Amino acid sequence: DSDEIRNSLKYWIEQTGMEDDAQVVFTGCFGFCEKGPIVKVLPGNTFYVGVQPGDAEEIVKEHLVKGRPVQRLLYTDPVTKEEISDSKGMEFYKKQMRIALRNCGFINPENIEEYISRDGYMALGKCLTELSPQEVISEIKESGLRGRGGGGFPTGLKWEITNKSEADQKYVVCNADEGDPGAFMDRSILEGDPHSIIEAMAICGYCIGADKGLVYIRAEYPLAIERLKIALNQAREYGLLGEDILGTGFNFDISIRLGAGAFVCGEETALIHSMEGLRGEPTFKPPFPSVSGYLGKPTNVNNVETFANVPVIINKGANWFNKIGTEKSKGTKVFALAGKINNIGLIEVPMGTTLREVIYDIGGGIKDGKEFKSVQTGGPSGGCLTKDFLDTPIDYDNLIAAGSMMGSGGMIVMDEDDCMVSIAKFYLEFTLEESCGKCSPCRIGNKRLHEMLDKITKGEGEEKDIERLKMLSHVIKDTSLCGLGQSSPNPVLSTIANFEDEYLAHVNEKK
Ligand code: SF4
Repeated sequence: DSDEIRNSLKYWIEQTGMEDDAQVVFTGCFGFCEKGPIVKVLPGNTFYVGVQPGDAEEIVKEHLVKGRPVQRLLYTDPVTKEEISDSKGMEFYKKQMRIALRNCGFINPENIEEYISRDGYMALGKCLTELSPQEVISEIKESGLRGRGGGGFPTGLKWEITNKSEADQKYVVCNADEGDPGAFMDRSILEGDPHSIIEAMAICGYCIGADKGLVYIRAEYPLAIERLKIALNQAREYGLLGEDILGTGFNFDISIRLGAGAFVCGEETALIHSMEGLRGEPTFKPPFPSVSGYLGKPTNVNNVETFANVPVIINKGANWFNKIGTEKSKGTKVFALAGKINNIGLIEVPMGTTLREVIYDIGGGIKDGKEFKSVQTGGPSGGCLTKDFLDTPIDYDNLIAAGSMMGSGGMIVMDEDDCMVSIAKFYLEFTLEESCGKCSPCRIGNKRLHEMLDKITKGEGEEKDIERLKMLSHVIKDTSLCGLGQSSPNPVLSTIANFEDEYLAHVNEKK
C-alpha cells in the first residue's frame, strides 16, 4: 500500500505542477499501526490515517494546492467524535514519551542529513572530543540505563567490564535478532532511525576500546537491512565511520551478519556462535562475552533499543534520563502492543506507566467492547497477568514480582473469549519449536509439558496433571542451561496461578 500511495502522491504532485514545492518521502513507523497507512503533511503536522492510493489526488489538490486539509482522512476521537489533525492531540500519543523512537516517523531514514538535523552524531562528536571513555561509561552508569533486550543488566556496568578486559581486539555487537511472536520494536528502530544505532555503537566502541562492530540481524528484516546498509555507507562518506573519525584518530567500522531467524540466537552466547559460523547454541556463563565473546575476544552485546537510548543520554545528560521512570528502572520502554486491543501498534512509555494506562488510554481498550482477561508481557518467556495487576507500574522488578517479566517488549492482550490453557499451549509450542535441543530439561521437559497441556485441552486430563505441570515446570526452570529453557514454563505457571479454574474446567469436561 505504502508504495502505491507514494507513487500516487508523486503522480498528482507532477500533474498539478507542484514538483518544486512538494516532496514525498518514506519515514519509519509512526507506531499507530491500527490506523495505517499514515500520511503526514509538513509543515503543519497534519496526520492522515487509513490513507489509500485513491486518496492521493484529493490530498494533493485540496491540501497542497489549496491549503485545505482533507477532513475525512483526519483521525476521529472515538469518545468525543472530534476530528484531530495533529498526532499530539491523540490519546494514543499523549501518554507516550519517545526516546528510542524519537526519529521514527519524523525523518527520512535514508538521508543522513535529516538525522544530523535532529542532533544526530552530536553525541559521538562530544564523546570523541570532550569526554574520556571512562567519563562516557560513568554517564551511562549514572543514567541507570538497563538492557532492553530482556535481561535488564545495567548497560554502563557491562561497558565497564568490557573496557577493563585486556585484549588486542574487542568487538561491539548489536543484537537485532528480535524473535518474540508479534514483536517488532528493533525492526522499527532500524527501519526508521538506523543512524542512531550506528552512532551508539561507535560510542560504545570508543568506550570499550573496540574498532569493529557487528550488527546481528535476522534475514527476515529486508527493509531494516537495506536501510542499515545505506546508513552505513552514508556514515562512512561523512567521516563518521571508518578511520580517523572526525579527525580524532579513533577508528571504528561496522559490518552486518545475517541470522536465520532462530529465537535462541537472541541469547548472546548463541548469537556469538552463530556469527562465528557455528551452531546457534548457548554455552555456560561465565565466561561472559564481556570477557570472552566473538572469536574469544571481549565483546559487548546490547540490543537495538538499548543502543537507541545512548545518544540521547549523552546529549541530554544522565540526570535528565534518570529522572524518567521508577527507582530501579530508568527511562522508557518500547512495547509492541497486540492482541484483542483497539489500537494495535508500537508504543514507548516512561517506566512506571501502569498496564491500565497502556491498555485503556493508549491501547483504546478491548476490541468490540469485550472484557479484558489477561495481558502477556515478556513474550513467550513471560507470564499472563490478570486484571488484578492492571494498576501495576511497569518496570523490571514489578513485572517479575507479578509473575511475568519485561522481556524485549512484546505485549499481547487477551479478552474474555480466550482460553488461557490454549494460550499457554501456544507459547509452549513456540518455545518447543525454538529450543536448540542442547540440554534435556528444555528439549524433553517442554515436550512432556506440551503433551500434558494437549491432553488437558482435549478433555483427557486429570486433576493431578495440574500438579505435575507445576512440578515439571519448576524442574525445567531450575535445570535448563539458558534463558530460553529457564523461562519457557512461565506461561504455564502464570496461567495455573491466575486461571486454575480454566484448567479444572477442561479436566472436568469429560465427567
Ligand atoms: Fe538449548 Fe533450551 Fe538448553 Fe537453552 S535451555 S541450551 S534453548 S535446549
